This record gives sequence, structure tokens and C-alpha cells, in this order.
Amino acid sequence: MALVVQKFGGTSVGNIDRIRNVARRAIATQKAGNDVVVIVSAMSGETNRLLALAHEVVKVPDAREMDVIASTGEQVTAALTAMAIQSEGGQARSLLGHQVKVLTDGAFTKARIKAIDGSKIFDATKKGEIVVVAGFQGVNESGDITTLGRGGSDTSAVAIAAAISADACEIYTDVDGVYTTDPNICPSARKIAKISYEEMLELASLGAKVLQIRSVEIAMKYGVPVHVRSSFNDAPGTWVTREDKSLEDVVVAGIAYDKGDARVHVTGVEDKPGVVAELFGALAEKNISVDMIIQNATKGHNERADVTFTLPKTDLARGRPFIDEVGKRLGALEVRYDEDIVKVSIVGLGMRSHAGIAAKMFRILATEGINIQAISTSEIKVSCVVAAKYTELAVRALHDGFGLEKTVGPTP
Ligand code: ASP
Ligand code: MG
Repeated sequence: MALVVQKFGGTSVGNIDRIRNVARRAIATQKAGNDVVVIVSAMSGETNRLLALAHEVVKVPDAREMDVIASTGEQVTAALTAMAIQSEGGQARSLLGHQVKVLTDGAFTKARIKAIDGSKIFDATKKGEIVVVAGFQGVNESGDITTLGRGGSDTSAVAIAAAISADACEIYTDVDGVYTTDPNICPSARKIAKISYEEMLELASLGAKVLQIRSVEIAMKYGVPVHVRSSFNDAPGTWVTREDKSLEDVVVAGIAYDKGDARVHVTGVEDKPGVVAELFGALAEKNISVDMIIQNATKGHNERADVTFTLPKTDLARGRPFIDEVGKRLGALEVRYDEDIVKVSIVGLGMRSHAGIAAKMFRILATEGINIQAISTSEIKVSCVVAAKYTELAVRALHDGFGLEKTVGPTP
């Protein structure tokens, strides 16, 4: 007998028929001899609708009230799902975040979970009930409703699974699992059978949107086995687990791309101590986090340097006046902005023990005539910034070049 957490995303509860499917799946899992805890998202589109309503009333809504509104989407689905289970002959009870209780800090709209009490959940499962918990929501010390940030139901599910020591956390979604890259732009993309937390974290933060990043961090911290799979069929999906020998041998597990960054060139600043510190100090003060940074000395005798860096497009409008100003202060010849870029990344545990992976990536891009504008690396990742128009070409070439369409991934 196992304890299973099943989380259903927005499209999986998008209408009443689908909610009935969720109910049937939960009942079948229970009948197979498991205790079942279901975590639900809002019906697809609902959270966006609620947030838009708030913005109709006021341009910058109060964050506390925002969470009171946003949390209702999940409240509705939780009750509907519990009713659907009952109408299919099962026993069920819905619990909201504060009823469980999912205690969070007070950062409205992006709260972090501090503690989860599993006792109400266990009381219900002991009685043979399927517990349906509203995802995305919690409660702070003062009893205010909080939400966990967009996509936060994933985090609710994994955190609850950790708190009640569940044997597995199944994340049901509208895709079959985690793919080697985005199948929409690379037809030979393949479902990955098993991937490590570390790789999943890199892929998630590089723009692969299957799981909220925070949920992967929690899964890794507490060792929760996560199974990402489709709610529309019974095929096994992707297991996200601790690394093991079979995973370490995979040099490149996946390829991600992210169009969310912009590139800034600050050209011809003085090449002397303190210049870069002043530039990035000014950005840090404005709470703007930069990603890649390159500094190169320019030719000539007047000892000038160019600094290139990337930052989120969403921070560009806000950051631009400061960057222009510091540029002037530092005597820059020019400050240029480029939003038509994409960051393409290869991720794999095997990079730690194989040399020449970055060089191979550069060669593949060069063969396609794609110029690399910036590079960054970590232990298990290499990222290149290229012109946005090359997104598909770069992803496909790397996917082929590293043989990802052929790799038979390790089986769980
Ligand atoms: N309903 C929330 C959202 O759309 C949380 C979630 O679905 O995970 O972001
Ligand atoms: Mg989601």
C-alpha cells in the first residue's frame, strides 16, 4: 500500500468531463490499494480571468486582495473534484490551503511555504476518503490567504508530498512528459524516461515550462520522486529523481531555449578597476539581476573596454534609464540594446566527466552559420546567445548534433 499525491493542472480540469476523468483516475488509484491525495489547479484560463478582473478595477491592485481573488480558482476546482469523486461512488473531501494548513510567509502573490501540517490529510485518508487539496494557496501567520506564484500548484503538490512522506508525486498535465527539447519547434524531440533533479532544475530555469522551478527545488531537497505524465492517457511519463549511474552517462539530456532576455552593450568604457563594479552595482541597487556578462578589451591605445550583458526583457524598460545614466557617468562611447536574441542551452550531468562538449556545441552552431554573441557555462550546462531568428535552426541542429533523437534514455 502506497501513499500517492496526484496533481492535475489547469487543462486537466478544464471542464466538467475532464474533472470526472480526474475523479475516475483518483478512485482507480485508490482501488489499486493506495491512499490518494489530489491537488488541483484552477480550470484553464481561470487564474488569468481573475487577475484581469482585478486589473479592470485598479491598475496596480493591492497584493493581499489579489491573493484573495486568485485563490478562488483552485477553491472551485477542489469542490467540483470532490463532488465528482462522490458522484462516481467514492468518498472525498476538499481542503483549502488554510484548512490543511499550508503555512507560508507573507509575500503575497509569491509566498514561500514554511510548514505543512499533514494531520487533517491523514485523518481523512484513514477514513477511506480521497483528499482534494486546492493548490497554489496557503495562509500566512496572521491568517491571510497567500498564493505561491504562477504555476504554484506544482509546488503545493511536491511540498505536500514531502510533508506527508508520499511514495510518489504524480504531476498530470497536457503533455506526455519532459521532452529532450520543445517538440513544437523540433519534430524529432523525444520523451525522456528519467531525468535528475539537477538537470530538471536547469531545464526549468532555462525556459522549459513543464514544472514550476520551486517545485523541483523542493523535490530535490526532500527527495520526492516526481512523475510528470499526461492526464489524457495511461502512458508512463518522465520520472524526475535523484541522479544515479545511468543518468551520469547521459552527456546531453535536453536542449532549452529562452527568449526572455535582452542584451546590452556598453562600449568604450575606461578599462580600469571599479568600472564594472559601478555599472553592476547600480543595477543591483535597482534589484535588476543580470545573467551573462562579458568584458573585452578593445583595440587601440586608450585602454577602453566593451561590456556586454543580458538581463530579463521584463526588467529592461525599468533598467534602461539607469543603464544609460551609468554609461554616461563611465564615459561610455555608446549604449546599445538588442531584444532580438535567444539563449540556447544544452544540459546534461555527463558534462561533468566529458571534455569538449562546449566546443562541440560551438562547432555545430558554426556549421549552421550561426554567430554566437555570448556564452556562459555551469557544471552541467552550456548556454549561447544567438540572434532570435536562429532559434529553430539552432535547437534542431544541436538536437541532431548531440544525437538526442536516437538516445535511448535510461529506464526507471
Ligand atoms: N492557477 C495558478 C496559475 O495559473 C496556479 C497553477 O495552475 O499552478 O498560475
Ligand atoms: Mg503548470
